[in-house]
Amino acid sequence: MSELTELYNQVRTCEKCILSQGRTHAVPGEGPENAEIMFIGEGPGFHEDRQGRPFVGAAGKFLEELLANIGLSREEVYIANVVKCRPPGNRDPQPEEIDACRPYLDKQIELVRPRLIVTLGRFSMQRYFPGASISRIHGQPKRIGSVIYYPMFHPAAALHQPRWRTLVEEDMARIPELLAKLEDIEEEEEPQLGQAEQLSLF
Ligand code: URA
Ligand code: SF4
Repeated sequence: MSELTELYNQVRTCEKCILSQGRTHAVPGEGPENAEIMFIGEGPGFHEDRQGRPFVGAAGKFLEELLANIGLSREEVYIANVVKCRPPGNRDPQPEEIDACRPYLDKQIELVRPRLIVTLGRFSMQRYFPGASISRIHGQPKRIGSVIYYPMFHPAAALHQPRWRTLVEEDMARIPELLAKLEDIEEEEEPQLGQAEQLSLF
């Protein structure tokens, strides 16, 4: 059994926070174990909770369309969430729930080692851009070592907001350019996230 599969099994039986009480299925995440791109959403919604898979509802359909626009399918990318169990009524995940769930996402990133991490919405953005405003920084990549972090609006929010929809489409359209840039960047030892001097914007 791969370490990721082992992680999925832990997540499915996890009771580390209150969200375990309302779930039908935990949603560990899915995708190739060596995916180059990882998308990180917020948490499962109704359909994800039913099926135990990420982004299978309306937001997922839109995400698949956005990927298709740049010649990618969902099978080629890794898809994860900040919390693995559905918050009741799709409310925002609470800080203590995000903290309880953090080791799972940390481990996923460590095992998959994506070169491009795309945050979808505010909650995953907070991991890499603490205190930032998504309206201000969406579509602005940040490189730390050999990894690019790229904040985007959440497709569920963008789906029904024509203005954001255009922005999310534009931001997604830049991903091939970022992937091409990554090819020029040697894989380096990843520095600690807190080391501000290592940060560079481009
Ligand atoms: N929205 C998310 O943030 N994650 C999912 O998996 C589905 C919808
Ligand atoms: Fe465990 Fe995360 Fe589910 Fe909370 S949300 S019960 S920490 S898997």
